[in-house]
Amino acid sequence: MTREPSTALPVPEPEPDADFRARLREFLAAHHPGKPPKDPGQRVGWTKAWLATLFDHGYAGPGWPREFGGMELPFAHQVIYHEEAARARVPGPLGTGLNIAAPTIIKYGTQEQKRRWLAPMLRGDTVWAQGYSEPEAGSDLPSLRTTARRDGDEYVVRGQKVWTSHAGDADIFFALVRTGTRDSRQHGITYLVIDARAPGVQVRPLRDLTGGQLFAEVFFDDVRVPVANRIGAENGGWPLARTSLGHERAAGALNQAAMYRRVLTELESLARERGQLADPLVRDQFVDLEIRVRIMRYNAMMTIGGILARGDAGPTSSISRLLVTAFEQDLHEFAVDLLGPAGLLGKSEPRAVQRSRWLTGFLRTRASTIGAGTREIQLNTVAEQVLGLPRDPGMPPR
Ligand SMILES: Cc1cc2nc3c(=O)[nH]c(=O)nc-3n(C[C@H](O)[C@H](O)[C@H](O)COP(=O)(O)OP(=O)(O)OC[C@H]3O[C@@H](n4cnc5c(N)ncnc54)[C@H](O)[C@@H]3O)c2cc1C
Repeated sequence: MTREPSTALPVPEPEPDADFRARLREFLAAHHPGKPPKDPGQRVGWTKAWLATLFDHGYAGPGWPREFGGMELPFAHQVIYHEEAARARVPGPLGTGLNIAAPTIIKYGTQEQKRRWLAPMLRGDTVWAQGYSEPEAGSDLPSLRTTARRDGDEYVVRGQKVWTSHAGDADIFFALVRTGTRDSRQHGITYLVIDARAPGVQVRPLRDLTGGQLFAEVFFDDVRVPVANRIGAENGGWPLARTSLGHERAAGALNQAAMYRRVLTELESLARERGQLADPLVRDQFVDLEIRVRIMRYNAMMTIGGILARGDAGPTSSISRLLVTAFEQDLHEFAVDLLGPAGLLGKSEPRAVQRSRWLTGFLRTRASTIGAGTREIQLNTVAEQVLGLPRDPGMPPR
């Protein structure tokens, strides 16, 4: 049995619009793509078909400008949109373009670039992947070494990226490359959009803890990239990278808050079915998670409100990221504890609980406090840029 959680809290709620919610709910029910296929390749096609359905019916990109196929919804409606999408369990975006590259293109791209890239990305026709991290440049991104040498109307790109999520499905990489001198750090970085199928690009999948191949290493061996694919100025990529990092941290904050609202209710139902809700320690944990899922929602609303007001996620996006990542790790750890030995059975075991979703979630979320900037880096950001504490001497100036 699933119970709708009470959201009656003594804090300002977004303007309710029952009509919009009802129309959206009806649309999502009528066009729902059904259960995801098990085969990862088929799942990509299934997600793309769903993104195209949303786009073609005018239900894609709740916060995006209308000019590029989005809905340009007011804030309160965006909240409703994400709540309904989570409730309907429809697929989210494919790749990292929508939440990370798109806001950067909208802010810094030329009109021609916006026209060329945004709508196909939103429709799912092109999948984008983020090529920032390198083997020797993760937290210290300004030390990246992949070079781009200018040759007429083209750049020649050479180097390696790592941990590139969705690289295997990507049509396009948005990458940071070095155009300045070797030691130019953040002053010699350029933002380039690279065709994933260009000659000289090689993608080698990496296996993660869950057994999946979400990310990959990407090699660029003298890959030719038109200068027209540069966003912003040569050597002027660092402020763009910072915009996209902020958005990465805020990305899907509302969506995740709505999704975890549903997931927590599902875990509670499972505990009830198993007769575990009478245990005071279990109840304590649920209360703690319930409080946190509500805080996440309000924090996400503040973060998105900040983006709408300033056009930039700002340092408070790190707070969102810290809340979500700690929550999802603790939630799955609690779920696995709750299920005891049965919680450790893998998907293929007939007695696995709910196809092992809680164990998979437990393993998957180990990486949450690394991706999009590690927990330590987020804590530094909050300490310095929100609380005004002294700067970490190891990090580049802002
Ligand atoms: C699931 C997942 C998906 C990812 N997807 C992408 C992607 O799509 N594209 C992409 O470009 N990258 C991606 N990454 C890479 C991610 O951004 C980096 O792993 C992350 O920035 C950390 O870099 P690193 O792994 O090199 O660790 P390092 O930077 O070497 O850090 C090692 C340890 O040192 C700590 N540390 C480093 N500097 C400091 C400091 N100044 N103060 C305190 N502690 C510090 C870190 O917190 C960490 O614990 C992904 C990573 C994961 C786990």
